[in-house]
Order: sequence, then structure tokens, then C-alpha cells
Amino acid sequence: MTLARAEIVVDLAAIRHNVRTLQQTTGVEVIVVVKADGYGHGMAQVAGAARAAGATWLAVATPDEALALRAVGDTGRLLCWLTVPGEPYADAIAAGIDLTAYSVAELDEIAAAAESVEHPVGNPVGHPDGHLARVQLKVDTGLSRGGAPREAWAELFARARAGEEAGHWLITGVWSHLACSDEPEHPANDHQEQAFRDALSLADEAGLRPGLRHLANSAAAILRPSARFDAVRCGIASYGLDPAPGHTPDLGLVPAMTVRARLALVKTLAAGDSVSYGHTWTAQAPTTVGLVPAGYGEGVPRHASGVASVGVAGIQRPIRGRVCMDQFLVDLGPEDDSTPHAGDEVLLLGPGRHGEPTAQDWAEACDTISYEIVTRIGGRMTRTHVDSDTEKTHDTASQDESR
Ligand SMILES: *Cc1c(COP(=O)(O)O)cnc(C)c1O
Repeated sequence: MTLARAEIVVDLAAIRHNVRTLQQTTGVEVIVVVKADGYGHGMAQVAGAARAAGATWLAVATPDEALALRAVGDTGRLLCWLTVPGEPYADAIAAGIDLTAYSVAELDEIAAAAESVEHPVGNPVGHPDGHLARVQLKVDTGLSRGGAPREAWAELFARARAGEEAGHWLITGVWSHLACSDEPEHPANDHQEQAFRDALSLADEAGLRPGLRHLANSAAAILRPSARFDAVRCGIASYGLDPAPGHTPDLGLVPAMTVRARLALVKTLAAGDSVSYGHTWTAQAPTTVGLVPAGYGEGVPRHASGVASVGVAGIQRPIRGRVCMDQFLVDLGPEDDSTPHAGDEVLLLGPGRHGEPTAQDWAEACDTISYEIVTRIGGRMTRTHVDSDTEKTHDTASQDESR
């Protein structure tokens, strides 16, 4: 078996396991969020695994991401929610993608596009009547990010209902997003859930019958049963990472991503030798260091300099000095018979089963969240998908062509 210089290995069996676990835990539809290249795990492959686990719905941020999923053959329900004026809505409508509207201006654009789509060709999931778009409405319940502010709800719902009657679209969902779901005791959670219920009542009064009402992301899906409604939108938990460290019960989620590399060089340092740019670390005693051929060009955070660790031969070893663009150094301790050699494996992160740090460990060391760690990993690394259920090995796994 030959290891790559530096690589990402994603276990699709872990994704399937996590999606099924979330379905069982929540008892509602789990919309698996695969935006940003599946949080760095590979959007197409994660989508396939999620569908295999029974996910009826997937979600992405942009229409481009949704169309990319259609292009690789995904035919299921697909939601997107981040558009800019002038977005080519017609393509998304023709592809049967559920668009999200935040405003009346957006609805007007979607209406014009819907009229231009007479008979969607190759539309696997759109409405059989032809030009009907599928639209969900997003209300801002307190995040103050996307979505219609409360004072605009009535007008948005009235326009949405009028467009339904005019045959422009079907309103398939109403939804919102929480600001503090990873802090279950935060009062904003109650406020936002109540505001969401207010919005649903108003939508109902406007004559809308959205089939999919959803509010919760991973943390709320797990920690707040009252926020589950018809569906939950799970990103991070689908990848096996903890959405609310310190609060989440152990559901047995399995991190799907492993990042590993081969030591490029091992060398001995004398006491007083300093390491990497700026000489921010100096050996107090003789030691050996290993050169890891991955750096911030691969998404290894420069903030990890001197604070994060990597797994070498089952032991966590500290990163010394600054992380560079292409490489960094790991302290392997005083030289002895067990000192690793050039070519040996280094586990940057993984599920933690072989003594390696997790994405959560990196996040804590770098003062960020695991989302950012896995989403930014990449660069020149190769990415391979394996399936531990079918014991498909690393060597036979297909290389991801998209990287
Ligand atoms: C990214 C995103 C999610 C997924 O959040 P997780 O915390 O990863 O589960 C859900 N909803 C919206 C609107 C998002 O932008």
C-alpha cells in the first residue's frame, strides 16, 4: 500500500451511519446539508451516501451547487437558499430544485423565470404541469442574516400565495435558522422558535400550506425536540462532528474524514536550535523533528503553529514553530529505536481511534469550530472515498476527479 504525500480519506460508511442515526434520533425528515463541497468531504460522494441512507432531501447554499448535484445524476429533492439578483433562476426551476425566497423582489424574479420555463426538459422531480417553480420562504426569526424580517412577512406570504394562484410556483416550505442552537440554554432559542410559530400561523392565514416547515440545524435537531417540525437540516452531525461540544449526548456519530501524510524528512535538533519562520520555538534539549508536507496551502491553519498536535505511531506529537504554506514540523522527541523515519505515516486528524487528534481538537487549539477545519482542508491534497462497510480498501478506491 502506498500512501500519498498528503491526503484526505473520507469513509462513506460513516456518513451513512450518521445520517441513519440522525433519522432515528429525530424521528423526522433529515435534510442532509452538503454545501461547500460537503464541508470539505466531497459534495457528490456525500450526496450519494446520504441518499443511500434514505435521505429524501439534500440542501446546499447556492443554485450552482444544486445544479452541480443534478449534473452528477442526483434526482431527489434539493433545496438551496443563497442567491443574488440576476441569478439564472430558470436553470434551477427546470432542474426541479427548490429555491428559497427571502423577499418579494426575489419572488418577482422567480416568477419571470418560471414563465420562461415552458416544459422543463430532463426535469426529474419538478412539477408535472411544466413551468411551476418550487419555492420555499425563509423568515428571519432573530439571526438577522438571510430571510424576511418580521415586518415583511405578511407581504411576502401574500405575494407567495398570489404567485401560487397564478401558477408560477408551489410554496413547498417555510423555514428559518437559529443563531444559538449550540448553546441550548440561550434565551434566543425560545424566542426564535416562538417567532417561527408566529410566522407559520401567518403563512397559514395567507392560505399557504407548506409541506416542509423546518428550523433546526444539527445542534437543535439533537438538543431541541420542539424545534424539529417536519424536518431538520443536518450538516456537521452528518459528517460525524459534534455540533455543540459539551452539550451533545453521545449518539455514536463517527467522523468521516481522516487526513494523513507521510513524513518527508526526520532530523535531529540540538538544544538551542530554533524551528521554522520567525524562530518561534527553540529546542530546550536534543530532539528529533519530522517534516510534514502539508501547510496552509492545504488548509492546515497557520493558527495551529505551536498549539496543535498530530498523531505519529499512535501518539500525539506537538507541532513546533510556524505552519508554513507547504509544510510544518512535528516534535518526535529524543532519538531512540522507536523514532519514526521519513516515509512514515502522520495522522493530522481523524475519528481519534488511532491516537490522532480530531477535527474538534484542532478547532479548540486554533480557537475556531470543527466546521472550519474540515471545510478548509484541501489544497494540493488528494481526496479519496472509501467504504468501511464493504471493506473497500484505500488502494481500490477511486480518486476524486474533481480535485
Ligand atoms: C449550513 C447550514 C445548516 C447546517 O448547519 P449544521 O450546524 O452544520 O447542521 C443548516 N441551515 C442553514 C441555513 C445553513 O446555512
